[in-house]
Amino acid sequence: MTKGNINVSVENIFPLIKKFLYSDHEIFLRELISNATDATLKLKHLTNIGEAKVDYGNPKIEVKIDKENKKLYIIDQGLGMTAEEVEKYINQVAFSGAEEFLEKYKDSAKDSGIIGHFGLGFYSAFMVAEKVEIISKSFKDEPAVHWICDGSPEFTLEETTAKTDRGTEIILHIAEDSTEFLEDAKIRELLTKYNKFMPVPIKFGTRTETLPLPEGAAEDAVAETVEVDNIVNNPTPAWTKSPSELKDEDYKAFYHELYPMQFEEPLFNIHLNVDYPFNLTGVLYFPKLANNLNIEKDKIQLYQNQVFVTDEVKGIVPDFLMLLRGVIDSPDIPLNVSRSYLQADGAVKKISSYITKKVADKMVSLINENREDYDKKWNDIKIVIEYGMISEEKFFEKSDKFALYPTTDGKYFLWNELEEKIKANQTDKDGNLVILYATNADEQHSYIQSAKDKGYEVILLDSPIVPHLIQKLETSKEKISFARVDADHINNLIKKDEPAISKLNETEKESLKKNVEESINDKKFTVQLEDLDSNDAPFTITQPEFMRRMKD
Ligand code: ADP
Ligand code: MG
Repeated sequence: MTKGNINVSVENIFPLIKKFLYSDHEIFLRELISNATDATLKLKHLTNIGEAKVDYGNPKIEVKIDKENKKLYIIDQGLGMTAEEVEKYINQVAFSGAEEFLEKYKDSAKDSGIIGHFGLGFYSAFMVAEKVEIISKSFKDEPAVHWICDGSPEFTLEETTAKTDRGTEIILHIAEDSTEFLEDAKIRELLTKYNKFMPVPIKFGTRTETLPLPEGAAEDAVAETVEVDNIVNNPTPAWTKSPSELKDEDYKAFYHELYPMQFEEPLFNIHLNVDYPFNLTGVLYFPKLANNLNIEKDKIQLYQNQVFVTDEVKGIVPDFLMLLRGVIDSPDIPLNVSRSYLQADGAVKKISSYITKKVADKMVSLINENREDYDKKWNDIKIVIEYGMISEEKFFEKSDKFALYPTTDGKYFLWNELEEKIKANQTDKDGNLVILYATNADEQHSYIQSAKDKGYEVILLDSPIVPHLIQKLETSKEKISFARVDADHINNLIKKDEPAISKLNETEKESLKKNVEESINDKKFTVQLEDLDSNDAPFTITQPEFMRRMKD
């Protein structure tokens, strides 16, 4: 037997990183800004605990394009690196300084918001750059350093006097095949996508601001303008704040900040905030959905420590929650290479069941707080709730507390209220409760009317997933069955009242029935004679329940 070590040569790793590390080349910017953010947050932490005796100030991160020289700059005012640190953190691929920092300051820094994880992010720069420079000056009293690497495993590292202020400049010499990253519009797009809510202000260019006119200024006075930093992000988005700091307007404003093209107001929001057994914050919104299952735009966004990860959340959050909007942020969501990894990740699974529970809890508190208001919103939220009931067992188990069953005349019953209402009047011979429902109030109008005339309650279930919902309810609840108002089950209901005396005798009735049946000429239908005097529908034509469900 031979044993040995597989020899991994760095020469081979670079092209691999370049090609395969991330499927999307554009995320290099997210990675470098994450590093700049980490460097800033680390310094903040060190000054907080007194380990760095420097003025933290109001640091920002600057992104700058030098189109002529094909360079892209990412400049921070964070803790910087000494020559020794560059050797340690940069020259060792897959050694994460972020993890080391969190390990070292375990207790005090666990909520510091440090992003890095795998020690690979920096090298994503080589996906778009043929050469990368680092110029860095540490907060420690040491000379600045200059590192240059052209994507081969060779690098140069030397002291420099060119940088006197604290922090790090990353300079990317953009490769021929990546010149799109020298375009203002492209960089702005990426900053908006990935960095919109990162915790350190990010400057990209400047903008002109008009100063207010001084008091008592002449009417024709021209307002002065100044150039100010163009800050592209909001470092303190709603989900990072505590619910007690936020008013309804703040949640609404944040909704529009998340979805600038969305003009409708959300119905309500759910503020997520846990720190055990995992960390998670977020704000979810219920949009006005009615029966609309189109969820293509304005999807839930997943963040890790305020860095955008993805809005392709299928498999990460339960399907029914994909109908909601908003943000979920967890440091436990790996800022990872592939989505399949995310879907299989244990932490992500727990997150998903936690959110389901939170949504159920929120529904319970909403209905308890203001039943009338909840009733009013039901038609816009029912699709989410019903979808959740048929797809998530845990959600279904709680749904008796918040799922409503509206009647065709505008009353909204909880399950037990509905049972209470119909139990005296709507049973079949086996003692099962028969729940009469309609799926279309207009089309089934005469059936609804005739059921109501008999004193039955008819509930209106008109969402596209109703057949599944009914099946779920029938298989989960005991001694109930559903019958559509125009189905023949309705005939099985035990009639409490004596039948009205009809003007037609039995023979006349039989012949009328036969006539109608012959003119329909379809065995699938049954003709049922009604109370011919007091009813506006003298007879009804019904079909077996299963046929009714199949059609929809
Ligand atoms: P990670 O961020 O996962 O730790 P990276 O490959 O992104 O790994 O970066 C490696 C390390 O290099 C960081 O952990 C950090 O110690 C150091 N580093 C990278 N960029 C900067 C920067 N702008 N300022 C200070 N240190 C940095
Ligand atoms: Mg990193």
